[in-house]
Amino acid sequence: PFQGYYTRRGGIGDSGDFITSPEISQVFGELIGIWYISEWMAMGKPKTFQLVELGPGRGTLAEDILRVFNQLTSVLSKCDVSVHLVEVSPKLSEIQARMLTGGKVQPNPEDESAYMKGISKTGIPIFWYRDIQDVPSGYSFYLAHEFFDALPIHKFQRTEKGWREVLVDIDPEVPDQLRFVLSPSSTPATENFIQPEETRDHVEVCPEAGVIVQRLACRIEKDGGAALVADYGHDGTKTDTFRGFRNHKLHDVLSAPGTADLTADVDFSYLRKMTQERTTTLGPIKQREFLKNMGIDLRLQVLLQNSRDTATREQLLHSYDMLMNPEKMGDCFNFFALLPHHRLVRADKKDEPESKSPLPPVAGFNELLLK
Ligand code: SAH
Repeated sequence: PFQGYYTRRGGIGDSGDFITSPEISQVFGELIGIWYISEWMAMGKPKTFQLVELGPGRGTLAEDILRVFNQLTSVLSKCDVSVHLVEVSPKLSEIQARMLTGGKVQPNPEDESAYMKGISKTGIPIFWYRDIQDVPSGYSFYLAHEFFDALPIHKFQRTEKGWREVLVDIDPEVPDQLRFVLSPSSTPATENFIQPEETRDHVEVCPEAGVIVQRLACRIEKDGGAALVADYGHDGTKTDTFRGFRNHKLHDVLSAPGTADLTADVDFSYLRKMTQERTTTLGPIKQREFLKNMGIDLRLQVLLQNSRDTATREQLLHSYDMLMNPEKMGDCFNFFALLPHHRLVRADKKDEPESKSPLPPVAGFNELLLK
């Protein structure tokens, strides 16, 4: 709680330890904003919704989404929107408050479970919490971008004697040096966190991600809404992905703990399992496919046409390449969604006329068809 990376450092951006898509291009957040509006329309334009973001970093993604909401006020008119940010880092929540409200926030509001509240520059109320459980229930759109990869994992190794947990130990030979060791026997974690049908020899499990996804699925099942999860990850195939980043370079995870960003690929097959079929899941699909389906090419063309100077045009093309190039972020980042079952399959009513119009496709996960 006091010496951890996000409470002490949390360096996102050029001057920090790692860079994320919303920090690279405004288009990323704009397309995500459009995804929420599209789902809101497909679900019959409910009169109110909460936008709940887990781990909002510098607040850039929320800022870009709120700009889209503001530009589409005529579409969202009469809809009561509020923003709820789940953030543990005091430093980052301050940066978010400055970015989204211009610094006009009220710490420790008495009447709320939130630890801070304010009003966005576009007039939308914003609340901050430390845990998803503190966010009031209600129709909500959830967002987790590069959030799940930041949560702690357990590592396991298959041995001749069965599964063993990889633990961190103090190296007896070298002062101030940590090392990895295997547990001499099974542990509560090996007993509880490995799926019986597991075929890999080395597995990383993030139980905290499982608990949070379970909560999201329960909330969506009960109150409606949707969740969009974007992260680098795999669908239950990768093994040893735990690594550290400091100043944009790979960093030994065991050296100088608390000073580097520690991360592990998100196992989407595990997240899917943890929804316990309370919701439908879509994806994971590659970031470049999702953004293409969301119309990134058209958006780029418009921005290029509207920009006069070469530097801006070059910047637009460069950031597009960063997000879309399979060698850069295009292939390793994935999009994954949780949706209520009725969003994709109509409730089976025998007496319903067959001619009913089909449910609209979910944007981003289906090819964009231009009429
Ligand atoms: N979504 C942002 C930031 C990603 S970094 C972006 O894409 O730029 C991860 C974020 O999750 C940071 O804001 C960090 O402070 C937050 N975070 C890490 N662990 C958390 C936890 N257990 N609960 C809530 N937030 C957490």
